[in-house]
Amino acid sequence: MDDEKRTTCEIEDGKVLPCWGMDSILELESHRKGVVLLKIIDVNKGCVDRTLVAVRSGDHAKRGVCINYCPMCGASFYEHVHGGKAEEAGNE
Ligand SMILES: [Zn+2]
Repeated sequence: MDDEKRTTCEIEDGKVLPCWGMDSILELESHRKGVVLLKIIDVNKGCVDRTLVAVRSGDHAKRGVCINYCPMCGASFYEHVHGGKAEEAGNE
């Protein structure tokens, strides 16, 4: 266990490593409302391919909305969320 707290969020290997501030607001049970870590499963490999941070609230309480930056440390997730997929339309 690494109990050293991250001061800023980092992206490593497609996964969000939350800062301590993000850690403090994340809901651990992913079906709950609030700020959640979405896991994108690679069905071919059978493992988690990427993680994204989403907010489930209001009109988006069910599916959630991916956020482009950390509201706690301000780190940008924009490229992580949209990276290389700008031309693929269709996602809200
Ligand atoms: Zn952060």
